[in-house]
This record gives sequence, structure tokens and C-alpha cells, in this order.
Amino acid sequence: MFDQSQIDTLRDAPVPPGRLLIDGAWREARDGATIDRLTPIDGSVLTTLADADAADVEDAVAAARAAFADRRWAGQAPAARKKVLLRWAELIEANALELAVLGVRDNGTEIAMAAKAEVGSAANTIRWYAEAIDKIYGEIAPTDDGALGLIHREPVGVIGAIVPWNFPLMIGTWKLAPALAAGNSVVLKPAETASLSLLRICELALEAGLPAGVLNVVTGRGAVSGQALSMSMDVDALVFTGSGATGRRLLEASPKSNLKRVYLELGGKSPNIVFDDVGDIAEAAKVSAAGIFRNSGQVCVAGSRLLVQRGVADEFVAALSEAAAKMRVGDPLDLTTQAGAINSQAQLDQVLGFVDDAVDQGARVALGGQRILEETGGYYMAPTVVTDVAPDHRLFRDEVFGPVLAVTTFEDEAEAIHLANATDYGLAAGVWTSNLGRAHRMIRAVQAGVVHVNTYGGPDITVPLGGVKQSGNGHDKSLHAFDKYVDLKTAWIKL
Ligand code: NAD
Repeated sequence: MFDQSQIDTLRDAPVPPGRLLIDGAWREARDGATIDRLTPIDGSVLTTLADADAADVEDAVAAARAAFADRRWAGQAPAARKKVLLRWAELIEANALELAVLGVRDNGTEIAMAAKAEVGSAANTIRWYAEAIDKIYGEIAPTDDGALGLIHREPVGVIGAIVPWNFPLMIGTWKLAPALAAGNSVVLKPAETASLSLLRICELALEAGLPAGVLNVVTGRGAVSGQALSMSMDVDALVFTGSGATGRRLLEASPKSNLKRVYLELGGKSPNIVFDDVGDIAEAAKVSAAGIFRNSGQVCVAGSRLLVQRGVADEFVAALSEAAAKMRVGDPLDLTTQAGAINSQAQLDQVLGFVDDAVDQGARVALGGQRILEETGGYYMAPTVVTDVAPDHRLFRDEVFGPVLAVTTFEDEAEAIHLANATDYGLAAGVWTSNLGRAHRMIRAVQAGVVHVNTYGGPDITVPLGGVKQSGNGHDKSLHAFDKYVDLKTAWIKL
């Protein structure tokens, strides 16, 4: 970890324009178009980004295809690919301070979190998949003596990876590391409001020895370059993390183009369920507050619905609100900040709109509810707790992706399960209870990709993350992530 004086030396460092990485070379968009990148810290222009169009995307896809076809990467021994990836992880760690500050200036996440969840996690993820790749074997089928059935694992080909703005390095490497480790070529499309640290780690990948063309990056607007990637006739699989609305477009693009596979990691409206037999209320409230308000609620698995049993509701909401009120919100480059900026003015406006709607529908703001630190020019919002939220309120059903907690009470376990599952999402959940049997019943009953028990957040790279219902399909993290990046091929040999 670094100290404040080191961070401050880079706080105002000039940021070079973000360019496209195609076939190992950095270049502008063909038509020279750029977009301004405003920092959420104070709303000023940080730099520009190349605004790729369909022609640029096809250049990137062609480079990825050529690299895959001549097997310059896939044809290397797994141990050789591992060496390059391990070197990449080392370079990321060696440049951790620069990467963390650059990423925070771009997307607004508090730096204490970014150092760990972004840079630290990126290096760890790359190392984990690098270490795995020469330990996975093919299979021999249990045939009779007359035949030999071999099951090979082969890379899929050209992967299009589209990622969001909340944790670009963490989520980006959840896709890049297994895709590259398995021998694929990739065209990466970062979010237009969080491209800079990803561009920098791709530069480090080249330095680590990744051959030209294996990893390409197209920046710019999602509706243009992202859409072009989804419609490409030469992308074999799309892996996506982002909103449900974009996910739907990507699914629609598949049959309109080449039937590419589409894997979606989408949003959530995750219930954090507190029973009256919760052990330490103060500790549970503190962890629950962090579970919604870290990164100002811009976390896909955020525990954004507090379902609390009536008997402990007042005490628990008071303890959670007290913990939330103490959180330091503000300058994301200050190491003591616990919740940084909202990523953009548009996102801030959307979040505030949710609070207004909840009040109109009869809910009550118990804490926060307003924009703060407006004088900085940045996009900050107070941690917000809204009580009396009913299942038909928009705040109960729709993802806010901001620092807003919706509180609903329940009577018993059956009602808790009913409320927990009463949205279209199924990404994450939390259960707080000292009753082991109840904990296991809830794990089975709640529809979610991950259920935290007596904690919220923190699962590491060894376990999968993916949603059910409208939170998506497929999984990032763990060895299961390889399923998206390898094909099984059978060889049937007569003996
Ligand atoms: P978004 O869908 O607006 O954008 C995500 C990416 O898609 C960006 O790179 C964007 O440029 C691109 N894009 C936008 N329009 C496109 C189009 N028409 N075609 C192709 N690409 C397009 O999402 P966001 O606002 O950046 O991210 C927030 C969302 O991501 C939230 O819903 C959040 O819950 C979700 N998320 C999910 C997970 C998970 O693991 N399930 C993790 C983090 C974030």
C-alpha cells in the first residue's frame, strides 16, 4: 500500500489521450474522432479518448483473428503463456500506485478500495489463471477396447469483452485473464467513463511479452464501438458485464450477426436479510453499511435492499444509519475516504431521481438523500437510507447503482424469502442469523448467484460469480470461468 504523499504527487499529473490498441500499435480512430473524459472528482477534463467506429472495430477484430489463426499465442506451450502472464501481473504490481491513481481520477472509486479491489485484484486474478493453465488436463473417455475417445480443450477464438465503469481492472481481468490463459485472442471494449487504467495495463501486457494482435482495445461510445463489436461477423463469443438494457441488445445482436455466444453478467437488487436472532447488531450494521455504500453503491452485488425482521428493525436501522453517517464521503484520492464519487453527472441525476420517486410513492428518507460537496464540481452523494419501501415501489424493484439503501420489514422466514425473491434480479444476497439451520434453508431458498452468511462481500477469486434470473448467465472467477473460453473437441480413434 502507498501513503498519501505518494498519491498527491500524481494527483494532477497530465494524462495522455487514450488511444486504440490494434495489432500491437497505438493509434487514433480512423476518422480522428475523440470524446472528452471528465473526472468525477471535480468535473474537469482529464483527457480525451479515441472514439472508435465500426471500421476501427473491424480492424481490431481482424488483428485478433489473424493472431488466433497463425497460433502465435494459442500455439505456445501453456507453460510459456503462463510465464508471460506472470510477468504481466508483476508489472501491474510494480506500477500499482500509478494505476490506482489513474483509475480513481477516471472513475471516482475511493483509492483505498481501488488499490485493493482494482490493482491488487487484477494482479492476483492474472496470476491465478496463469498458474492454472498448465495444470488442466484433457480427458480420456471410458470406451471399450476397440476405440480411444480423447477430449481436448481448445480456445474458442476471438473473444469480444465489454466491461463497465465501476471496477474496470477487477472486472476486466476477470475476463482477460482466463480468456488469454486459454489461448484466445481478445478485443476489449472498456466503458467510456473508465478506460484509462485498462489501457495502461494492456500496454504492460505488451511489455510482458504478449504477442501483437492477441489483445486489442477499442475505446469510445458503447452504442457505437460496443454495438459494432456485438454485430461483428468474426467475433466468436461476447463476454459482457454491465446493465440489463445493454445485455438485451447484445443478445439481440447474436442472431442478427453470426450467432456468437453471449455471456452476460448484469445488475442486481440484492437483499440483505437480517433476522431477529442476528448476533452482534453493531457489527452486522457496520458490515451491511459497507455492503451498500462502498464505492458509493456502484457495486453490482451491493446489498441495496435491507430486509429486516420487525422485532429488530428500529434498532438495526438506527445502528446502520449511524455507521453510514460516519462514513467519510468525498475526495476519492484521499486515503481516508470511504466512499468516493459517483461516476458521472448523468448517473448522479439518475440516483437522485430514484430517491424522489420513492418519496412520491410513500417511502421516507431516514438518512441523506441529497447531493453533497457540489462546490467541488464533482459528483458526490450522501449515503442514503430510505425506509417504508414497499414491494411495488420502483426503489424495491429496480437497480439504482448508487448509495441508496431501501429498507423493508418482514414478520417471519417465509415472508423474508418471498420478499427476497420478489424482483427480476438474482445476483447476490446476505443472511444474518445465529441459527445454522435457518442459514442453510435461506441459502437454498434465496434465488441468487452468491449468498453471504453473517457477512457481506469479500468472496475471492476461488469462487464463481454469476447471476440467475435477469442478473445474467455464465460465471466470472474460479476455474468455472474457463467454460466460456474453451471448447471441448472429441477425437474418436479406432484401435
Ligand atoms: P452499461 O451497460 O451502460 O455499459 C457497460 C459497457 O457496455 C460499457 O463498456 C459500454 O460502453 C457498453 N455499451 C453500452 N451500450 C452498448 C451497446 N449498445 N452495445 C454494446 N456495448 C454497449 O453499464 P454500466 O452503466 O457501465 O455499468 C453498470 C451496470 O453493470 C450495472 O447494471 C451493474 O450492476 C452492472 N455490473 C454487473 C456486474 C456483475 O458481475 N454482474 C459487475 C459490475 C457491474
